Amino acid sequence: MTPFPPPHQVVLSLGGNVGQVLDTFARSKEMLVNTIGPIIQSSRLYFTEPWGEPDQPHFFNQVILIETGLSPLQVLQACQQIETDFDRKRSVRWGPRTLDIDILFYDHLVLETEELTIPHPRIHERNFILVPLMEIIPDWVHPVYDLSIEELYVQCEDFNEVMIAEEE
Ligand code: AMP
Repeated sequence: MTPFPPPHQVVLSLGGNVGQVLDTFARSKEMLVNTIGPIIQSSRLYFTEPWGEPDQPHFFNQVILIETGLSPLQVLQACQQIETDFDRKRSVRWGPRTLDIDILFYDHLVLETEELTIPHPRIHERNFILVPLMEIIPDWVHPVYDLSIEELYVQCEDFNEVMIAEEE
């Protein structure tokens, strides 16, 4: 397992651009609390320009920090079950989806297996992840790049629009 004692801190991102996304986020967060653990920190909701595949509606994005006793793989399985419950269809890479839940960090663990790469490999190149992370954990050090979220944000060359959707 991991060298860090429980409770572990796991940082997740939520994204979606199909259906009643705000309702989907609210219900999926309840399910995350019930299956993974309490939400310790939560960013505001952001409304963001699609990344990679521009010909689709804007996304809503949010990041949350949860404390958990689950392993990384158990966290992934819980997230995937919730995505399935919301009828997520995986058709187009970077395409429209009801709900996408990614594991961004799990403590300061570095893990690369067939199912799971932690930290998530594209954190540093996505404004829609870095901007909400700046709100909750600007000093968190990325264990691969050895740079804080704030330092990664300053260096990031993604200029896609990221707007606050609503105050929570
Ligand atoms: P996506 O369709 O973009 O949600 O990608 C899902 C796939 O990415 C799943 O098969 C996961 O096993 C894999 N994956 C690898 N690393 C991660 C991660 N850090 N968070 C979520 N899914 C991951």
